[in-house]
Amino acid sequence: LDTTKTTGTALITGASSGIGAVYARQLAERGWGLVLVARRGDRLEQLAAALRDEHGVTVQTLTADLSQASDLTRVAARAVDVDLLVNNAGINGYGPFAQTEADLLTQVLAVNVTALTVLTRAAVPGMLTRGRGAVISVASLLAFAGSLPPDPLPHRAVYGGTKGYVVTFTRTLAAELAGSPVSVQVVCPGLTATEFHLTRGDLPVPGEEKVHDDGGMPPEDVVEASLSALRDGETMCVPGLEDPAAVEA
Ligand code: NDP
Repeated sequence: LDTTKTTGTALITGASSGIGAVYARQLAERGWGLVLVARRGDRLEQLAAALRDEHGVTVQTLTADLSQASDLTRVAARAVDVDLLVNNAGINGYGPFAQTEADLLTQVLAVNVTALTVLTRAAVPGMLTRGRGAVISVASLLAFAGSLPPDPLPHRAVYGGTKGYVVTFTRTLAAELAGSPVSVQVVCPGLTATEFHLTRGDLPVPGEEKVHDDGGMPPEDVVEASLSALRDGETMCVPGLEDPAAVEA
């Protein structure tokens, strides 16, 4: 799907900050209508107003907590007729595994795995019927747990596991949808300069109090890499990786 040549409606989860807000901006610049989803409705409204003003596009906001079944059902109902679904919302829940609260584990799985799967299931049938569409899902380099740098990092077993799911889910679905008008992509960013590392779970990670102060890749670079890989029909996108063949090994 070439987002510079085709427009339609894109539903973006986690659009209130970071990578999701950048997807919203870059798609609005290309003339896409948007449905923005996150819990912080005030942030969504501010972004929506700016994008309507600057680009004259239609922007709807859906304030929703994707870890709550009733909210997820409401968002899934809206996803049935979108042309592009961006499964970007994610939480990290980092912390020593043996001390992580069950509640936090459940939330990480609900947002990073269940919501992404349910929304994809909601969106794909309509895309197949209408003869076009794409699903982008944001995983992480941590999905590869050492088969690509970085080495598996402690205190991320659940988070890394959810992102491993996103990679396998997408690659397997891509095989099923090959030859159909619907494409799926998984994006695996490394450290990216967003609020993500400020909002980690409530357990401090020993020795990492300052580790993320060095920034990371600008989220704009992640989104540019993703949208150009989508145009080229690539299922796997690792922003900044010089040799994409390394991921296929
Ligand atoms: P942010 O924290 O800025 O963005 C996360 C987004 O997810 C926010 O918009 C947040 O909105 C939303 N979100 C979180 N929980 C929920 C929920 N329960 N219901 C609805 N929305 C929710 O970080 P990033 O932009 O960095 O993260 C985006 C994606 O990129 C995530 O999937 C993350 O795992 C992935 N990633 C990030 C990396 C990094 O270094 N930053 C590296 C690799 C991958 P709100 O709080 O308003 O609900």
